[in-house]
Order: sequence, then C-alpha cells, then structure tokens
Amino acid sequence: MSKAYNPYDNMLKVLEQAANILGLEENDYVVFKYPERELKVAIPVEMDDGSIRVFEGYRVQHSSLRGPCKGGLRYHQNVDIDEVKALAAWMSFKCGVVNIPYGGSKGAVKVNPKELSKNELKNLTRRYTAMILPLIGPERDIPAPDVNTDAEVMGWIMDTYSMFKGYPVPGVVTGKPVEIGGSLGRKEATGRGVMLITRETLHCLGMPIIGTKVAIQGMGNVGGTAAKLLHNEGCKIVAVSDATGGVYCNTGLNVDELVSFLTNNGGRGLQEYDATGVTHITNDELLTVECDVLVPAALENQITERIAPDIKAKVIVEGANGPTTVEADKILERNNKIVVPDVLANAGGVVVSYFEWVQNIQSLMWDEEEVNRALEKIMIRSFNEVWDKKKENNTTMRMGAYMVAVNRLVQAKKIRGIFP
Ligand code: GLU
Repeated sequence: MSKAYNPYDNMLKVLEQAANILGLEENDYVVFKYPERELKVAIPVEMDDGSIRVFEGYRVQHSSLRGPCKGGLRYHQNVDIDEVKALAAWMSFKCGVVNIPYGGSKGAVKVNPKELSKNELKNLTRRYTAMILPLIGPERDIPAPDVNTDAEVMGWIMDTYSMFKGYPVPGVVTGKPVEIGGSLGRKEATGRGVMLITRETLHCLGMPIIGTKVAIQGMGNVGGTAAKLLHNEGCKIVAVSDATGGVYCNTGLNVDELVSFLTNNGGRGLQEYDATGVTHITNDELLTVECDVLVPAALENQITERIAPDIKAKVIVEGANGPTTVEADKILERNNKIVVPDVLANAGGVVVSYFEWVQNIQSLMWDEEEVNRALEKIMIRSFNEVWDKKKENNTTMRMGAYMVAVNRLVQAKKIRGIFP
C-alpha cells in the first residue's frame, strides 16, 4: 500500500462532500471528523526462541452514537494510526448505510503474521485482548475478523475475555468458530454481499449477469468467496490476483480449481498456479484488464489517479475498504464508471456479524438459510436506498451511500444531544 495517500484525509474529504450535498451545517457533523476514543498499546510477546518482541497495537472507536462500536481487527506490518482511524470511521458509515444498530471501530496490530508461529500469534492475540479489555464487551465494542485475522483468532479473543470475566461471553466478538457461538454463513457473508450487490447493480444498469466478465484483486476470504459465488451466478471470472501476482484467462478461469489450489497449496501464491490458457499478470495489469466488473478485494489505495484512467471495467465493486483514492474517484466518475462503494459493497460481513451477536445475546442458533435470507433482505433494501439517493441527487453511488449514512448519524446526534 502506498503511504503517499492518507486514508483518514480521504475519509474526511468524502464526509465533507456528503455534508455539502446534504446541506448540513458544520455543527451537525463536526463530531464525526474525530474518533471518540483511541487506544495505543505496546504488546510484549515471548517468542519461541526465548527473545521478547514488542508489537504496537491500536483500538479506535469512531462512534457509539447508534449502538455499541463494531469493527474488525487487522494484522498487518504497514498499519498505522491514521489507517485504523479511517477504518473505524468507515465502520460507522457502513453500519449507517445498512441501518444496523452499531457505531464504528477498528483494531490493528503492526505485525506480519506470516513471520510468527501459531503459538506466538496466539500469545500476541491474548495479550492484545487483555490490554484493550476495558474498551471491549458485547455492549461496548465488538471486534471481528479483518485482513489476516480469522475465526481462530476470534476464538482466542473470546476465550481471553471470558477468562477475565469468569463466565463465557460469546457476544464480545463475532466471526468466531461456529463451535463456540459463531454464526453459520458468517465466513462467506462479505463475499456473498459483494455478489448480491454486483447482481443488483448489473440489473439496474440493464447489464446481464450471465457471461459478465469479472476481475478480482485479492483472493482472501472476501475475493475468494465472491469469485465462487459470482461464478455460480453465471459470471466469467477472467482474472484474479493475490499478493504474489495475478492470473488471466479470457474465456474464464476455473474458479473451483483456483480456490482449492490456494487452500491446499501450503502457502504458495498464484504466481505458481499453472493451467492451459492461463497467463500471468501483475496486480496493476489486473486492475486494468478487459472486463465488465472489477472487484478490488485487497487493501486501501489500490486504484489511484495513475491507474484510474486505464480501467476498462464499467462497474467497480469495492470488496476492500477504501481501495479507491478521492482523486481516482473523480477520474472514474468523469469516465462514466459506476463505483459501488465499500460501505455498501462489503457490508455483508458486518450484517452477519450483527446476526451472530443477536444470536449470542439471545442464546439462539439460526440455520444458514435463515442467515442468508436475512442478509439478502438487508443488502437489497440498502442497495435500493443508495441507488434512489444517487438518482434523486444525480450523484455517485458513493455520495448516495454517504448521504444515507451521514443522515442517520446526524439524526441520532440530534436526538441524543451533546452530553453534558
Ligand atoms: N472487518 C469487516 C469489515 O471491515 C467486518 C467487521 C465486522 O464484522 O464487525 O467490514
């Protein structure tokens, strides 16, 4: 990720734009320019060789206006506080767009998890959880998986928190293993949301889904699931990439084979994937490949003003958080591209996190069909609200989504008022 772009500045610019279109006074939204709370912790870990390393960690709560703070935990060697602040704010807006009763937060540890053993990672997670303990809880702030964290990490958080409390507290974290209160359908939820939103967008644009050519950057949980589900809907997945590089096939890649290669390959990346008709491409080439739909599902700031003019896709569906810079957004708008913003496109994950938390609090277990049906209902309702706002105001989908979200936050602020 290029550090030339500050994601927090990006967030502020988009917020300003939405506030302008909504005709808000500075007083209405000034509080959303600042995170409510930021915690930085130093996490000592005893490594397997007996040495001690100290990792920097963060938890940022942007807003608790509409409910407990909610947001993932990211492990990445390049994270910094501005990135976590932006990610936390985006969670507030995301929960606003889909209208679930949460505020927004985010956590991160500056670490390359691939360099740590399982045991070191577990100790890092447990110590981090202990250090952010006063901030989290089912009524306060609920972490979830994000880049480089998964159900296993969430299980360690749940166990650590529960040990401190003296009783099991499944609702402190979502995206847990189903054996300890995780929800069926949560793992696939973000990718499923990306598929649903892509389907709705194509429908509104009068574009068919069968045979539509899709390129996906990132084959993690979001990109991998989106690839599978879009393929099931009849799309042709012509290009995918991971951190090692990308692969391209004009007639469509064999998605099942690709996904099984990545899951059973003992850490090998796409660079080593080989099949007839497949050529190797760089990540930049993936973004500008000939296709109808582009799904950036990796990290922030991938679509910059350098890349944007060369994008061929008509529709860009943001599976990742913040993949498009403000400058690139303007170029895409000028080129009549439809950008479906992250706060809508990847909201499926937090929606099913909400279902998981609801099940935990009520000690209920929903079946997968029920989860997927409820997810689809919320995603389609939210899509329609955003699409209508876009049309009414003759603006972009990003502005439409922010108008919906900011409006909900502003109303909540008005009703609650400022304490004291
Ligand atoms: N990390 C995901 C996101 O950025 C999921 C957050 C959650 O489920 O709380 O939306």
